[in-house]
Amino acid sequence: MDASLRGRLDALEHASSPLDPDPDRRDRLRAAVHASSEQFLRSIESGRAFVEDDDGGDALHRWPITEDGIPLETVLNAWEEGVVRPGGHPASGAHLAYITGGGLYHSALADYLAAVSNKYTGVAFTGPGPVRLENMLIRWVADLVGYPKDAGGYIASGGSIANLTAIVAARDAYELSGAEYGSAVVYLTDQAHHCIEKALRIAGLGEAVVRRVGLDERYRMRPDDLARAIAADRARGLRPWLIAATAGTTDTGAVDPLDEIAEIARREECWFHVDAAYGGFFLLTEEGRRILAGIERSDSVVLDPHKSLFMPWGSGIVVVRDVRNLITSHAGTGDYLQDTLDGLDEISPADVSPELTKHFRAARMWFPLVLLGTRPFRAALEEKLLLARYFHREVQRLGFDVSPEPDLSTVTFRWAPTGMDPEESDEVNRVINDAVRSDGRVFLSSTVLDGRYTLRVAPLSFRTHRRTLDLTLDILDEKRREVSPGL
Ligand SMILES: *Cc1c(COP(=O)(O)O)cnc(C)c1O
Repeated sequence: MDASLRGRLDALEHASSPLDPDPDRRDRLRAAVHASSEQFLRSIESGRAFVEDDDGGDALHRWPITEDGIPLETVLNAWEEGVVRPGGHPASGAHLAYITGGGLYHSALADYLAAVSNKYTGVAFTGPGPVRLENMLIRWVADLVGYPKDAGGYIASGGSIANLTAIVAARDAYELSGAEYGSAVVYLTDQAHHCIEKALRIAGLGEAVVRRVGLDERYRMRPDDLARAIAADRARGLRPWLIAATAGTTDTGAVDPLDEIAEIARREECWFHVDAAYGGFFLLTEEGRRILAGIERSDSVVLDPHKSLFMPWGSGIVVVRDVRNLITSHAGTGDYLQDTLDGLDEISPADVSPELTKHFRAARMWFPLVLLGTRPFRAALEEKLLLARYFHREVQRLGFDVSPEPDLSTVTFRWAPTGMDPEESDEVNRVINDAVRSDGRVFLSSTVLDGRYTLRVAPLSFRTHRRTLDLTLDILDEKRREVSPGL
């Protein structure tokens, strides 16, 4: 090696050295990041659940990526101002909009450990520990659901991808050929999450017939209507294929009657999928087990740890009753992976999912569960079920109309006093919702039910407690009086 090459390598090593900070620098970095996260966590209860921001994070443009970087304090300032401050705060217990529950601190620390060690999670040969960990967690979820020992699955990035994976498995399990796509029928309700139809399109099944099964007065799938629709489709020469039930709809938290649907699916030889992205982990509670009874008879199921297991965003689980169905659709290999295939007793996530290299999501799920045990999770979930019932009762006392008692943790309600016409009431509820969001102390969301603008509250965070809902009731009463005084 000539001197100039050596000189150049030394110079490059030196120039790239900021990528590998020494212990002192690591201490400083960690202390500053830790201080920022502490400031956030210590103000989370008194802070806003929604910040209506004039620039919506636009301030971030003030800190472009440069050749030489910018000081640590400035970077953390950019983070706090541009990223954390504006918009919704899903880590807050007062974030009662949509379906939000996550941000466990233990999971954040596990993410840190996972990223520092950067263990490979895609295949068991190089990452035996992470793969075993993920499979243990999948087994834990399969047991929770009540699946047999042949069940398998993986931790995806969220419910949408998890549902997609299940639908692809269902497609291949029924050996549907392209020519049959147009006559394959999928059964779901208007309350099913839109990601199911999106998944059908992505899976190439955009031409499949989507049959909207009727709802009962609690927005649950009607088994009699399902059975009728299947019979009518058979008579037309179509091929009933997939029933996609929901265990906890996003709008109202309704749980379809899983046991009755399972019976129909078995009789009609349809694939029975349950989207329990929201409601799944309520299986940890006695009440949840009662409401979700029949889920164990499904062929595939989706549960989002970033909802009812309080993980940070980016974790959704799919489990399929017979893991071979996932392997059929997803196993693949390349010459460069030849060393990875021999003598393993663990199924690699890469063989049961569209992913190869992925985020080590098992760490953030395993760490809090193994450390704390299931008891605090069970308690927090039971608390959420009771909080929803509490809110359902109290919001009626304020004069709001409510939907029937919630199945899970979502309550829908609207201000519609006698004599107010429905159009006006839609407008009043919209104004109330906007006023609550501008106030920002709590964050609610809305939906449309039976054609009417409806407010909803969905306590799901481990940080949501009775005082949060009492505050919500006070704010609702205050805003309601502002827009509809004298009633
Ligand atoms: C949230 C949700 C989804 C979508 O899951 P993501 O994790 O947001 O991708 C699907 N189905 C139901 C019932 C949900 O609540």
